[in-house]
Amino acid sequence: MEIKQLYREIVNDHNLHPSHKGTMTDPTVTLRGVNPSCGDDITLMLKITDGIITDAVFDGSGCAISQASVDMMIDGILGKSREEALDLAGRFMRMIQGTGTDEDFEELDEAAALQDVAHMPARVKCAVLGWHTMEQALEAGDGGSSGG
Ligand code: ZN
Repeated sequence: MEIKQLYREIVNDHNLHPSHKGTMTDPTVTLRGVNPSCGDDITLMLKITDGIITDAVFDGSGCAISQASVDMMIDGILGKSREEALDLAGRFMRMIQGTGTDEDFEELDEAAALQDVAHMPARVKCAVLGWHTMEQALEAGDGGSSGG
């Protein structure tokens, strides 16, 4: 199978059958992310216990790339520390900017299916919406740590 066809199927599957779409009753942090240029509008809910992302869901609507990207992102960050989740976000940003390494692709797992977005400037904001929202949510949910 051609690799681009495989990527398309991964993205389609996450868009049509998201694993993490829904709501939760007691999130640690809830943050909405909007991409006006496309109409993508998501709400990300994270439950953080002792610095670990123990649960995460998203809700909202948007194009296939935005929805699949956030669903794949949650696959990647569940059970991770905030530092690991931010590290993964950094890898995703590098991939979308076309500077990702083999290690980045490996760590990103299925989210690496979006690497062709690097060649589609109009879709970059769709692909990074969930990841930017997650980064902001982790900072907002920090609960006032010392230092800085
Ligand atoms: Zn979009």
